[in-house]
Amino acid sequence: MEQKKNGLYFYVTVIFSLGVLAYSAWLILGSVLSYNEGQTESFYYSLILGLIGVALSISSLATMRRRIQIIKSQSLKTLTTEICEKCNFKKVREFKAGDYVNKKTEACPQCKADLAISMIYKESPKE
Ligand SMILES: [Zn+2]
Repeated sequence: MEQKKNGLYFYVTVIFSLGVLAYSAWLILGSVLSYNEGQTESFYYSLILGLIGVALSISSLATMRRRIQIIKSQSLKTLTTEICEKCNFKKVREFKAGDYVNKKTEACPQCKADLAISMIYKESPKE
């Protein structure tokens, strides 16, 4: 649900930024045309407005890209694998603060020996 809302937000922002970019390009084009017609005052006005628009839309697209990367890396879980040395029972769960490799955690549900953490790793992206 939260993911879907974010997706829509990104979509709208990207469309909006592209719109601003297109409008700014059109302003710059128009400024060149008015320069050719000798209207230097509206040339500078449109050119400056157009350049500001281009800068704004590019910076907002860049921010968006960074945010998407941050969200992608945050949605990856850190996983902890526990293994029983006696019977090889294996358990994968989410990382908890205080986990470290070789830490004894709890009794093995199969043979009651100690489970020990064998691996802590970041889940690979689902793509
Ligand atoms: Zn066991």
